[in-house]
Amino acid sequence: MGRYIQKSSKLDNVCYDIRGPVLHRANELEEEGQRIIKLNIGNPAPFGFNAPDEIIQDVIHMLPKSEGYSDSKGLYSARKAVMQECQKIGIPNVEVGDIYLGNGASELITMATQALLNQGDEVLIPAPDYPLWTAVTSLAGGTPVHYLCDEENDWQPNLDDIRSKITEHTRAIVIINPNNPTGAVYSRELLTELVAIAEAHNLVIFADEIYSKILYDDAVHIPLGSLCKDTLCLTFNGLSKAYRLAGFRSGWLIVSGAKERAQDYIEGLTMLSSMRLCANVPAQHAIQTALGGYQSINELILPGGRLLEQRDLAWEMLNAIPGVSCSKPKGAIYMFPRLDPEVYPIIDDEQMVLDLLNQEKMLLVQGTGFNWPSPDHVRIVFLPNKIDLEDAIERFARFLSRYRKK
Ligand code: PLP
Repeated sequence: MGRYIQKSSKLDNVCYDIRGPVLHRANELEEEGQRIIKLNIGNPAPFGFNAPDEIIQDVIHMLPKSEGYSDSKGLYSARKAVMQECQKIGIPNVEVGDIYLGNGASELITMATQALLNQGDEVLIPAPDYPLWTAVTSLAGGTPVHYLCDEENDWQPNLDDIRSKITEHTRAIVIINPNNPTGAVYSRELLTELVAIAEAHNLVIFADEIYSKILYDDAVHIPLGSLCKDTLCLTFNGLSKAYRLAGFRSGWLIVSGAKERAQDYIEGLTMLSSMRLCANVPAQHAIQTALGGYQSINELILPGGRLLEQRDLAWEMLNAIPGVSCSKPKGAIYMFPRLDPEVYPIIDDEQMVLDLLNQEKMLLVQGTGFNWPSPDHVRIVFLPNKIDLEDAIERFARFLSRYRKK
């Protein structure tokens, strides 16, 4: 008999609960023939948010010309379209060479941390976070240090907490705007202060702006790259959310700001991009049409739009549950409601979400899965249609009524 095969110790501190054990149980239930209402993953297309047809048609048209590898950084035409987008949204001084295309923003996020971090280097990451950031920082040998976002202040980053957590080892700060999981959108004033902090401490800014076009009410998205002159800013975006093409795995990274001071790091990024040869070429062909074409996302988020209506329904229903409170998302496709510990004595929120799944056949992700420090939140994706959303939140309310302190 051979020896037991163990995973690498590099994975010891790596965790990604969004696709963790609870999802495994949901898959088992589905295999048994049960219908599960899924409010767990931000994947728009399966909920009827189809991608614009013009993008699909262009990709079909280009498919016969997509057989070979592309340039490692990506097709020139697609990167040029991203460059023009930078001009449109006000990120200055970006050339085609400053743009890297990847298999989703996820691959580029992994590359950006791998290329920067040495053992023990610290990265400031929001709490709650999109947990990929914490996972890839650990995988790269870095140390994730979480800064708090204030729920009472519409989930804005707490600048004092950020300042107090900067050490001589801090190399970078992650800012997710619009935010997953809270739906917060940050003001120009706040972002300007964040840039000043990064500049004063020579931190690289990782700006995760994958939800930049999913905005509600009067929210405006200010790209961090538009505020960075003497700070290096890496902006991540892609087709998964606003263009509903998560399955294509198509994203981009824009390097802007203090590029001259970062030539060595940029060489590292280019080397990693060469090592994976290139991103999936058919999906790169979608970028030019997406950015230059009709922006159908606006129909979904403006008054009367399906996403906006679902946000309103979910928000109202959640806040009507005793002991549940939730700030209204200004962007993205998630809510992060609080379950008052005085009302719901939750000790293990993963177990709570598992009980919810088993009893009510609906799927959420526990707040601690987003590196939130206490077991008193869950994340809800408001992509299901109104009927399913209503049904799911009624089930959640019924479950919670049994969970209440006696
Ligand atoms: N960043 C955030 C904040 C996300 O929520 C997601 C996906 O949910 C990603 C990045 C990854 O996006 P992609 O599909 O482009 O890899």
